[in-house]
Amino acid sequence: MATIASNLQAVRAAIVSAAASAGRAEEEIGLLAVSKTFPVDAIREAHLAGQTRFAENYVQEALGKIAELADLAIEWHFIGPIQTNKTRSIAEHFAWVHSVDRLKTAQRLSDQRPAQLPALQLCLQVNISGEASKSGVAPEAVAALAQAIVQLPHVTLRGLMAIPAPSDDVAAQHAAFARLRELRDQLNRQGLHLDTLSMGMSHDFVAAIAEGATMVRVGTAIFGNRLYPREADNPGLDAG
Ligand SMILES: *Cc1c(COP(=O)(O)O)cnc(C)c1O
Repeated sequence: MATIASNLQAVRAAIVSAAASAGRAEEEIGLLAVSKTFPVDAIREAHLAGQTRFAENYVQEALGKIAELADLAIEWHFIGPIQTNKTRSIAEHFAWVHSVDRLKTAQRLSDQRPAQLPALQLCLQVNISGEASKSGVAPEAVAALAQAIVQLPHVTLRGLMAIPAPSDDVAAQHAAFARLRELRDQLNRQGLHLDTLSMGMSHDFVAAIAEGATMVRVGTAIFGNRLYPREADNPGLDAG
């Protein structure tokens, strides 16, 4: 049976080879291990194998794990739907938030970020495939939201995140990721300094890297199939 350590090794090798094919330096691509639904033992195993950045989707679940793993040097990323009443916990316990799609959320995260911590690193989640059911800001609304967020004192806007509609069609995967990259480039031409493209999951991170991903969010390929079905496009499951 594949272990977490060997899965991680395989994912890292795939990242290196995807970067090489794209003519990119592998150091440009960060690996975020998505540990939602997996127990702290699985995270310890991945950490022992050299993984230091982990991502969680559900605040209550994450807070328990963060407390239990306080002895490890882990950079925690929040990638799930954000409920207004959870912004304080997120601001207090995470280094990055990838799923901001409203100014009100960003304002609360900035207001609630503890003064002794560095600025919270943010990505705007963009609804790149235009699906009505998905969270994320519409591409045409990203510029105004980004310009407002960069004014906030205790957050730093780093880039864009997307979860394109799942597709086995590699050309469709490339097209969606290319749209996010083009949007980021357009914002930078308007004076922003966005260095992060958070895109690519277990089934499509190779295409994402070819299109410029700087952070891939990989769960299943590292930890195996999730123990219970909770998907990123099911907000409302964060009842604790
Ligand atoms: C669950 C999740 C992932 C990881 O998905 P896998 O297919 O298991 O790699 C990545 N990003 C987000 C936002 C997620 O919710």
